Amino acid sequence: MPFVGIGDEEILRCRKCCSHNTRVTVTESREEVTWRYCRCLDCGERFKTVERYAYAKRAPLNPPPILKGCDNYNSRFVPADIVAIRSLSEEGLSGAQIALRYGCDRSTIHKIVNYKTYTDEY
Ligand SMILES: [Zn+2]
Repeated sequence: MPFVGIGDEEILRCRKCCSHNTRVTVTESREEVTWRYCRCLDCGERFKTVERYAYAKRAPLNPPPILKGCDNYNSRFVPADIVAIRSLSEEGLSGAQIALRYGCDRSTIHKIVNYKTYTDEY
């Protein structure tokens, strides 16, 4: 695929034999960067070019706030649950036992008990 606005020969010159007889074999585009895997038709040398935007993509000015804890739409708990889960854990119940009671994964319980999630509820 040819470059737009730049002469092919300026960029796609073989690193080994300086031949202009090269081809882009694969183009991989990501958000900020484009890789081009190239091959020299004369000597078989393979090389890669990296094209990156000089300026990062502008972030939206007013990103919607991410709702935390029980306010999050995916939350299955109410604040009272969080309090109960933490006190059950203090009473010595294991994460798995509490998870069974609330129908969730024990890692979820673990994160609640250790204040990794639901940090505003207590
Ligand atoms: Zn070459």
